[in-house]
Amino acid sequence: MSITPLMPVYPRCAFRPVKGDHCHLIGEDGRRYLDFAAGIAVNILGHSHKGLIGAIQRQAETLMHVSNLYGSPQGEHMAQRLVDLTFADTVFFTNSGAEAVECAIKTARAYHQHIGNDHKYELITFKNAFHGRTMATISASNQEKMHKGFLPLLAGFKYVDFDDLEGVKAAIGRNTAGFLVEPIQGEGGIRQASQEFMQGLRDLADEHDLMLVLDEVQCGYARTGTFFAHEHYGIAPDILASAKGIGGGFPLGACLATEKAARGMGIGAHGSTYGGNPLAMAAGEAVLDAVANEEFLGHVNTIGERLKARLEQFIGNYPDLFAEVRGRGLMLGVKMKVEPRGFVAHLRDNHQLLTVSAGDNTLRLVPPLVIDDAHLDEFMDKLSAASASYKHEEPA
Ligand SMILES: *Cc1c(COP(=O)(O)O)cnc(C)c1O
Repeated sequence: MSITPLMPVYPRCAFRPVKGDHCHLIGEDGRRYLDFAAGIAVNILGHSHKGLIGAIQRQAETLMHVSNLYGSPQGEHMAQRLVDLTFADTVFFTNSGAEAVECAIKTARAYHQHIGNDHKYELITFKNAFHGRTMATISASNQEKMHKGFLPLLAGFKYVDFDDLEGVKAAIGRNTAGFLVEPIQGEGGIRQASQEFMQGLRDLADEHDLMLVLDEVQCGYARTGTFFAHEHYGIAPDILASAKGIGGGFPLGACLATEKAARGMGIGAHGSTYGGNPLAMAAGEAVLDAVANEEFLGHVNTIGERLKARLEQFIGNYPDLFAEVRGRGLMLGVKMKVEPRGFVAHLRDNHQLLTVSAGDNTLRLVPPLVIDDAHLDEFMDKLSAASASYKHEEPA
């Protein structure tokens, strides 16, 4: 037999982390790595947060899992907090980002089908978007590398260029149910939607009675210095998918919706065995305790601006490597002039700095939101040394 016991769908590198220590990871070989990848924007409180660990330990001893057929004081409490903090009136908890997007897609379709508009099932989505790896969420993205081998796709998605409002207007038709968009594309290369685009989508949704669905799985949950990224634009969605940071490392996601948008989601419409179980809610509430306050969000803004300013100043030293700095808060990207994966490997293997590549030749920086100035210094030292020693070879 030549297939590995772990299904070989990931190109796993030689680094094998076995322990976390705040903003560092320790490998099997005992070496310490500065973690500016954070499990891809997941470990927002770092790796050994006392509040999060304690909450999970206490809940694990009390009650880990029960069926969603029973009343849920734990789920009601966390849902109420999210409702109080956001545009939403109601929340469905999931175990991952793709499931949160899946619920968002179903909610948007059900909004129309609930009143008999069965023809309004199509979501307009955007090129280079990433919404997850289920059949519906790969169908919502135009990226052919994710489709290969899995055809046919689910019907009901139409792709338009990101940030192209005229393209959206032209694509709206009799079947349109709404828009599904990341306010800042993560996997696509830390690309921010413009103010005009986001406001334009909101206005078009209002004008045509369409659902504005935001995928804030990566850009949400304090990552950009507001609780959700759409707050920067002064607009609210009808439906929003959250995950990644929401559990701080515990598998958790959520689909948030207004009462109006959720009109099709009555009893029996959707479900999940694990979704929102007491253990997940304990983790989620510990994360909320830490992040849902002005002081924490202020820290993300301040430290994010400092990191961005230092990067902008730095990249001029290596004009052959770096083109520009993108993003907001602690969702930053450095667009490179070379394919970034070799550089990511060099940072990791030779300088013990963890980052992650993204589309559009982007070096992605999504550290824990609890980094401080000492971590910035360590990061800049490593980036600087790595840039000086890097010999680029285009991958075969
Ligand atoms: C990571 C991500 C997802 C998928 O989340 P999973 O937990 O991997 O299913 C969906 N949308 C965006 C924007 C993401 O970054």
